[in-house]
Amino acid sequence: MSVIEEQILAQIKRYETIIIHRHQRPDPDAFGSQLGLKAILEASFPEKKIYAVGKAVPGLAWMSEDDEFMDEVPDKAYRDALVIVVDTANAPRIDDQRWPNGLEMIKIDHHPNDEPYGDWQWVEAGKSATSTMIYEFYEALKDQGLVMTAKAARLLYIGIVGDTGRFMYSMDKETFRVVSELFGYPFDYEAVLHHMSTISENAAKLSGYVLQNLTILPSGFAYLVLSKALLEEFNLQDSGTAFVVPLPATIDKVKAWAIFEEQDEGNYRVRLRSRSIVINKIANQFEGGGHPMASGAWAQTPQDIERLINILDTALLAQNGVSEDGSGTN
Ligand code: AMP
Repeated sequence: MSVIEEQILAQIKRYETIIIHRHQRPDPDAFGSQLGLKAILEASFPEKKIYAVGKAVPGLAWMSEDDEFMDEVPDKAYRDALVIVVDTANAPRIDDQRWPNGLEMIKIDHHPNDEPYGDWQWVEAGKSATSTMIYEFYEALKDQGLVMTAKAARLLYIGIVGDTGRFMYSMDKETFRVVSELFGYPFDYEAVLHHMSTISENAAKLSGYVLQNLTILPSGFAYLVLSKALLEEFNLQDSGTAFVVPLPATIDKVKAWAIFEEQDEGNYRVRLRSRSIVINKIANQFEGGGHPMASGAWAQTPQDIERLINILDTALLAQNGVSEDGSGTN
């Protein structure tokens, strides 16, 4: 156990009100680590008020078994609260910008620590998911009052399944060990996997469109722009398109890829993935960031899209040992 985990528990014990935040546009690990930590703390300290805040995402409402998906928290609750932010590398991406109103703040995350905000930081960029860390936090300190429940175990399992792409990426012995511990709690694993492996009929049709229309460059870089009009045609919104992001990985010659999703404001959310070059530094140049092989960014204009495609294509060509004019370098 590291000192920081003990310091975090000591802070939790000091406060009556604890408000847990996570990032905007949450994914299963953001919700899993947030709601999983909330469930652990509620079971461990029934006398404390524990809140989970941020915008509810209808597509992920199934993760919560409570009627109230996210908590409504009055401003005054922050006055004497401890704030914990999970799974969020950069402060501007924290959902619910009231987080600085708490008395003290703790960051728990598994992204590179590009922005070390908060009074305490427990950041381990090598971890498969923030949900993995939350289980380890419980495990390290169970002798000091932390209690695990089936509800928390289910949420953490969902987070790990989400961030590892159903155990395909960032997997290691430790993550399998944590998953095997989580399997010791009674929840319906198969129902969770079913939820995370099936998509609506419209989504399946969009998947077909993505595979048919992906542009694959000779470097192994692939991309596709999903316009708002197209998403409307498939009756899907940007928040319901996460399932298309891993699809290019099924094509053997694709080494890195970007899916551009047009927003109401006319700009584009960019979802970047790689199994070759490191992409988070490139994402940093476009208001983004994330993991070395899975990042997000923004393109404000079609010119930004072109520029980003160019940078990624050139980086792959360089990695392949081909210079921009097409001649080989090794
Ligand atoms: P996504 O493509 O939205 O699934 O995000 C992939 C990874 O990049 C996740 O770990 C996100 O937290 C991170 N990420 C996405 N968008 C951004 C952004 N604009 N800035 C920093 N990190 C991001």
